[in-house]
Amino acid sequence: MPDRTMLMRDLEIALEKLKDFVNPVEKLEQYRTPGNIAALMIWEASLRRDLHRDIVVDLGCGTGVLTYGSLLLGASSALCLDIDWSALYVARENLVGFSGLFDLVAGDARNLPMRPISDKCTVIMNPPFGVKTRGADIEFLKAALGTCSTVYSLHKYSLESLKLISKVAEELGFALSVVTKATMVLKQRLRHHRKKTHRFEVALIRLVKTSECGGVGR
Ligand code: SAH
Repeated sequence: MPDRTMLMRDLEIALEKLKDFVNPVEKLEQYRTPGNIAALMIWEASLRRDLHRDIVVDLGCGTGVLTYGSLLLGASSALCLDIDWSALYVARENLVGFSGLFDLVAGDARNLPMRPISDKCTVIMNPPFGVKTRGADIEFLKAALGTCSTVYSLHKYSLESLKLISKVAEELGFALSVVTKATMVLKQRLRHHRKKTHRFEVALIRLVKTSECGGVGR
């Protein structure tokens, strides 16, 4: 049995070293997923063997942190989609060592459908929380559920939002579980922010198409 703490920590360190957004766009809620949170997401998906499907799709991939972690832990291919070219340039630099294993796609996640080459795919994403563009989180969620049969997504934690997500998931034929809760700490980047950091609770959720529930590890 591998030393879980050590491996998680190694992953966290590797992810924390990646390049950040150059000129983050507030409206697009661009912030790089902190290393500890990204590592947790990748680790949990790997434990459930959800990274070892045909393709991992990272919607709103930004700097490519989640794509990087997925490939590092053995995903065979990945698709990194973002609406912002300058974010994709950063992702390309971060992912250069995995050349041939990923595609970078510029596009609007709210305007899919996008059909991956295989149904055996997993979305792993940290979408906008819907703070700057109301409802963006739910639009991303719907897009993800229309793309792959297994989805990992990070959301601002509140019972209200979990209820809404759960309702959307059920309507689209998915079962939801909360994998874990965590505290996200973001460095404040704008002058008008008085505090240096902003802390809040997030929930990592996993959604699986109901027709696929009941198999190994599900
Ligand atoms: N997971 C990434 C970025 C998280 S921030 C990382 O850790 O680096 C949310 C990302 O969603 C940003 O990169 C932003 O550009 C992207 N985004 C916002 N609206 C989008 C849309 N409509 N379609 C695709 N990407 C979008």
